[in-house]
Amino acid sequence: MEYVLTANSIYKNYGKFRALSGLTMKVPKGSIYGLVGKNGAGKTTLIRIICGLQSPSLGEYSLYGADSRSKKIVRARRRMGAVVETPSVYLDMSAEDNLKQQYRILGMPSFEGIDELLGLVGLESAGKKKAKNFSLGMKQRLGIAVALCGSPDFLVLDEPVNGLDPQGIVEIRELILRLNRERNITVLISSHILDELSRLATHYGFIDGGRMIKEISAEELDAACRKCCRIEVSDIRAAARVLDSLNLEYSVVSDAEADIYARPNITSLTAALSAEGCELLSVTEKDESLESYFIGLVGRQQ
Ligand code: ATP
Repeated sequence: MEYVLTANSIYKNYGKFRALSGLTMKVPKGSIYGLVGKNGAGKTTLIRIICGLQSPSLGEYSLYGADSRSKKIVRARRRMGAVVETPSVYLDMSAEDNLKQQYRILGMPSFEGIDELLGLVGLESAGKKKAKNFSLGMKQRLGIAVALCGSPDFLVLDEPVNGLDPQGIVEIRELILRLNRERNITVLISSHILDELSRLATHYGFIDGGRMIKEISAEELDAACRKCCRIEVSDIRAAARVLDSLNLEYSVVSDAEADIYARPNITSLTAALSAEGCELLSVTEKDESLESYFIGLVGRQQ
C-alpha cells in the first residue's frame, strides 16, 4: 500500500508534560483517515506537527516520501492543505477576496479557478458577501476552499464539524466525500463525533494518551463490530438457561436484556423461553457502533 503520511515514533513535550508519546501512524493514499481520540489525546498536537506549525521533540514523519528532517519536506507540504482549529479566513473580506488573498500568498500567477472553488464548496452565491456575515458552516467551507487553493492532494481537517448544525454537518460531509471521490484527495480528519466519522472514514486511527492505540480499515472495523440481536425478557436468568441450552453465543447486558450474536429463530426462541416461564418482550437488531468499539479500546473515563 502507498502512504501519503507515515509518522515514526513521534514525541512532543510541553515542558514536563508529554502530549505525544512515541506515536506512529500511516495514512493510505486515497483514504479518508479518521483520527479518533478523547479530548486531550493529542490529535491537534499531531496535526500541528504534520502541518509544520510545531516541531516534534523527537521522532520524524514522512510526507509523500519526504523526510520531515530534510529540505524536501517544504516542497512536499505544498501538496497539502489544512484547516487547523478555527478556519483561517479574513472576516472583513468576501469569500472571493479571501481566495484571491490566498492565491497571492501562494504566489499563483492568476486568479483562475476561484469561481470553480467557490462552486465546489457551495459558496458561489455568497462570493461577494463578507465572511463575518457567514454562518459557521459557511466559514468552515470557506476555510476548506482556502486550504484547497494550490490544488493540494492531501487535505487535513481538525474537527471540521465541531459546533455545526445538522445541515452544516451534512454539507461538510458531502464536500469531503466529493473531494475524496472526484478529486482523489486523501483526507485526514480528526473528530470526536464518532457517528459522523463513521459515515466518511475508510480508515481509522485511535489515539489515546499521545499514543496510537490501533489503526484499522473501515472494512476491518465492520467485521470487528459484530451484528447482534438484543432481546428484552421478563426473566433474564431463565433466558440465560434457554440461550445456553440452544448453544447460542450471548452476553447479558442488563436485568432484562441480552445480546445474541446470531440471528435466532424467533418462533423457537419464544417457545423455549415460554417453556421456562419467561416472556419475550422485544427483539431489536443492533450493530456494535464505532463508539462502543472506541470505548472498548480506550475506556469510558475522560
Ligand atoms: P481536543 O479535542 O480537546 O483539542 P486533542 O486530542 O486535540 O484534544 P491536544 O490539543 O493535542 O489534544 O492536547 C494534548 C495535550 O497536550 C492536552 O493535555 C493539552 O492540555 C496539552 N497541550 C496542548 N498544547 C499545549 C501547550 N501549548 N502547552 C502545554 N500543554 C499543551
